Amino acid sequence: MEKTNTILSQRENLSVEQCHCCDNIILHYQNLLLKFSPKSFKEFTNTLLDVNFNKRSISFGNGTEKMIINTQLKEVQMCFTKTEYHTICHALKEASVMLEVNDILNN
Ligand SMILES: [Zn+2]
Repeated sequence: MEKTNTILSQRENLSVEQCHCCDNIILHYQNLLLKFSPKSFKEFTNTLLDVNFNKRSISFGNGTEKMIINTQLKEVQMCFTKTEYHTICHALKEASVMLEVNDILNN
């Protein structure tokens, strides 16, 4: 039984794929692996694109500025540099367009 995911966005260190069996969407970026339902993927994308990097960023000890994103686990937060944030936003937008196109083609 072959199970291949649909690639929604792909670049170095990052991929967004949709599973054929359950429609779940997997975001893989460096050592981060996130799994969403189609609905929660939309919510995550909208939330992330709305964030103002400069308002959410804090300075880390080595002088880098990173923004903090809360997760549903209060012990776990994600942090991204501005470049990483833009990379993810670009991929999420690209993946959202692909999802819309696939929706139109499949319905
Ligand atoms: Zn699946």
